[in-house]
Amino acid sequence: MNRASGTAILGSVTSAVSSRPESVPSSCDLIVVGAGIIGLAVAREALVREPGASVVVLECEHQIASHQSSHNSGVIHAGIYYEPGSLKAKLCVEGAAALYRLCDELGVATDAIGKLIVATNAAELPRLDRLHERAVANGVRVEKLNGAQLREIEPRASGIAALHSPDTGIVDYAAVCAALAGDVEARGGTVITGCAVERVENADGGARVIHARGVTDCSGAIVCAGLQSDRLAQASGATADPRIIPFRGAYFTLRRPELVRGLIYPVPDPALPFLGVHLTRRIGGDVIVGPTALPATARSGYRGWRINPRDLFATLSWPGSYRMAWRWRRQAPRELAWAFSSSAYAREASRLVSGLGADDLDPSFAGIRAQAVGRDGALIDDFVFAGEGRIVQLRNAPSPAATASLAIAAHCCDRLGPIADGEPRQRPAS
Ligand SMILES: Cc1cc2nc3c(=O)[nH]c(=O)nc-3n(C[C@H](O)[C@H](O)[C@H](O)COP(=O)(O)OP(=O)(O)OC[C@H]3O[C@@H](n4cnc5c(N)ncnc54)[C@H](O)[C@@H]3O)c2cc1C
Repeated sequence: MNRASGTAILGSVTSAVSSRPESVPSSCDLIVVGAGIIGLAVAREALVREPGASVVVLECEHQIASHQSSHNSGVIHAGIYYEPGSLKAKLCVEGAAALYRLCDELGVATDAIGKLIVATNAAELPRLDRLHERAVANGVRVEKLNGAQLREIEPRASGIAALHSPDTGIVDYAAVCAALAGDVEARGGTVITGCAVERVENADGGARVIHARGVTDCSGAIVCAGLQSDRLAQASGATADPRIIPFRGAYFTLRRPELVRGLIYPVPDPALPFLGVHLTRRIGGDVIVGPTALPATARSGYRGWRINPRDLFATLSWPGSYRMAWRWRRQAPRELAWAFSSSAYAREASRLVSGLGADDLDPSFAGIRAQAVGRDGALIDDFVFAGEGRIVQLRNAPSPAATASLAIAAHCCDRLGPIADGEPRQRPAS
């Protein structure tokens, strides 16, 4: 990851959580595992539903939002792509509206700058039409544009037709996490960093959380562990299927940000769950190009191609990895070229904005996607919730889960039921 942007990200999130008690209480109403955007949104939702409940977020890293929630495109998706009736479609549409409202309330900058999905040849037009139908079915505002109309919005975009989504926007998700953590604490919740959870069990009508600083008994637990969600689920006795396969997504920064006004996306390949190389204006004004999509050799391999033997073994020992590789055999060479050659990458980006060359791209940060892959090799597209009794496990929350985070949080709390069970629980000491 780009050192400068990394420092900025960490700077904005560390100031969010004012005090972190060293000790974790031995009991409370709700434990949330993971202080990414979803865990923090869950904690806030629980406190909105039951003010006064004792809610504790446990995060293994020393900063909140250390992984996906601060290493992404920063797009507030409108809900165009997703299968009508799926959880993704429903929670993205609800979540985007809720996110705009929350950011207004908490003073986090958003900008509904709009997005173009651009067809660059006639073969892509039927797919663009299908996306239009999906958007309409999902209740998302979109407009079909011809080549001349799309260039009124993005003068440098190439393409023969486009879908315009005026409600797609941008936000700095690390800033959203910082604001959420601040709000959780203002409502009486506690965010504790540097405390890894080892497992979560149902016990005595509630849940028992075994973590690096001891054991906490609680009325319920909601696990939002992102890239580690399969491991935590398995350690807690759940099935190994699906497994998280990490996908690295590297970005470039555009040296001439004036070439792009808003967001320019390709028509996605229906065989893949990712949206393809896109150009994205960020809240700070720079424009990023990316991300790539290749299986990663480490679940936190942000710089270069770091190898984590445990993570690599988890990928290589999963039968679904080989089935997935076979299914993807035609796309793989193209993804490999984009990951390792900036010229090939620039050629792909220049399908959307003509005249882009390798000289226009500076290497920037990378993110690692937590993508659940079934034993059968299927890349699981929809959000997956599991868990029994007083435990909710979020097992697949890929993009647009940052957009959908507030709606996912409400869904988790609905699944759990009452936050407090009426048993007296001690408040965490601060
Ligand atoms: C390259 C990329 C681009 C993306 N672009 C977008 C986008 O533009 N718009 C969008 O809506 N979404 C986007 N996404 C998806 C979005 O970022 C994620 O879906 C979302 O951030 C998931 O949030 P999370 O809280 O589940 O995961 P995370 O942010 O990964 O948080 C999980 C947390 O759990 C903690 N944890 C793990 N194990 C333990 C443990 N044992 N004990 C305690 N804590 C633990 C981790 O340290 C981490 O902080 C993108 C993702 C990537 C990678």
